[in-house]
Amino acid sequence: MVADGYAAVGDSAFMTMPFMGSGIEASMQAGKMLAETVIKTRKKGYSAKNLWAYQVAFYKKLGALYMAIDVAKRWALNLDPEYINWLFGCGAITSEDLKLLSTDENNEVSISPIEIIRKIGILLSNPSLIFGLLKTLVHAVHSLLVAISIPKKYSAKRVSKWQNKYESMI
Ligand SMILES: Cc1cc2nc3c(=O)[nH]c(=O)nc-3n(C[C@H](O)[C@H](O)[C@H](O)COP(=O)(O)OP(=O)(O)OC[C@H]3O[C@@H](n4cnc5c(N)ncnc54)[C@H](O)[C@@H]3O)c2cc1C
Repeated sequence: MVADGYAAVGDSAFMTMPFMGSGIEASMQAGKMLAETVIKTRKKGYSAKNLWAYQVAFYKKLGALYMAIDVAKRWALNLDPEYINWLFGCGAITSEDLKLLSTDENNEVSISPIEIIRKIGILLSNPSLIFGLLKTLVHAVHSLLVAISIPKKYSAKRVSKWQNKYESMI
């Protein structure tokens, strides 16, 4: 996202929310993070090293979560359409659940423990789906952990190592 004298924000920096395709809010939040970094570093100059704090802030707040969601999305896109119909048709996924993915800080949607148990009960009636889902969840959490382990301080070598690990997740 950063280079000497440059910083990317928005769709060009993959800030679209993977499941919904919305990118305006994430880009505006990123814009604020970039502005804060620019203000902090204005006396030192805008090298990739100094702008790196912006990328770290974005990954901590949204990027790592988006990575995990992206992994889940890739699994969903490769599912047999019959499974997708079943997931929505039987109530395992509802429109309220999709609201949970919103990055809106005023989002007050939550999911109750009873609702979670109800969903697990529905999913258990389809064991072939459960296996793929669990595998994807483990992969998504692993991806999130890799993404969030972004080096705090810029070093080309450490960043390149992290990038290779990050890209290997997808
Ligand atoms: C149909 C649709 C519905 C959407 N609905 C929502 C929604 O409800 N909520 C939401 O948050 N997001 C939504 N999005 C996503 C949102 O529009 C994008 O995430 C957001 O517009 C990204 O902003 P951006 O400035 O990064 O990129 P863009 O808006 O794509 O702006 C990039 C600009 O750069 C210009 N450009 C490209 N190449 C060059 C060049 N070489 N030289 C000069 N100019 C260039 C382009 O013409 C464009 O004007 C939707 C997207 C689509 C397609």
